[in-house]
Amino acid sequence: MPYPIDNRPLDLRERMYFPEIIRGIGALTGHFLRNLFFSRDPNPDILARPRGFGRSDNVTVQYPEEKAPYPPGYRGLHRLVPREDGRPRCVACYMCAAACPAQCIYIEAGEVEGDPIEKYPVVFVIDELRCVVCGLCVEACPKDAIRMDTGEHAPPSTERAAQIWDKARLLRGPSVNYQYDPWLRRAAPSIPPAPRAALTASARPVPAVGAPAAPPPTPSPRGAAGAPRGGPRPPRGRR
Ligand code: SF4
Ligand code: SF4
Repeated sequence: MPYPIDNRPLDLRERMYFPEIIRGIGALTGHFLRNLFFSRDPNPDILARPRGFGRSDNVTVQYPEEKAPYPPGYRGLHRLVPREDGRPRCVACYMCAAACPAQCIYIEAGEVEGDPIEKYPVVFVIDELRCVVCGLCVEACPKDAIRMDTGEHAPPSTERAAQIWDKARLLRGPSVNYQYDPWLRRAAPSIPPAPRAALTASARPVPAVGAPAAPPPTPSPRGAAGAPRGGPRPPRGRR
């Protein structure tokens, strides 16, 4: 759209400059005070923040004292899910590495001593710098052995090597057991019979087809408010 240019000569007041400077300062101060005291961002995440004496209505998140909650389904840093005995659920099937479009997962498989069937990852490395956070590795895993439910993003670092996450760093978080886990159904040497029976009793049942998904690890006020994600936002105005 063409923008009309005002080419008229300056009048006396404009040629004196100072009245116009004072007028501009007045307009700027008015916007500043209105935004400071009478305006709020209509974003549900912002509206859910507490108000009151001593608190600001500013939309700026006072990081790092204050952290914005991540939305449901946020794909955070990877973790290797441990079994109840602390070993990884991973059976080194390479499906995550095959599915990874960034080719940033490296695995070396080993055989579990005394077990003719089971394998485990001797080496499991993810290059978080190459990762494009697509979540395909999580989707591809048949053992629920890799998740992105940490709610964390990669910590900053000045060295590339610090973003190479090995098994010792990845293996963390709460353990997960399913009733169909082979180490619970047969005599896995790493778990004695009595604890294995208790684990089997407390393990998660096999999920039914079409069962609702588990709640996300980092609920958001946006989700709690039931606001549609990516939907139309109300016009900005005084509140
Ligand atoms: S999130 Fe995507 S890019 Fe990152 S490791 Fe998994 S499959 Fe690879
Ligand atoms: S994390 Fe899952 S998909 Fe990847 S190697 Fe282990 S069991 Fe297979």
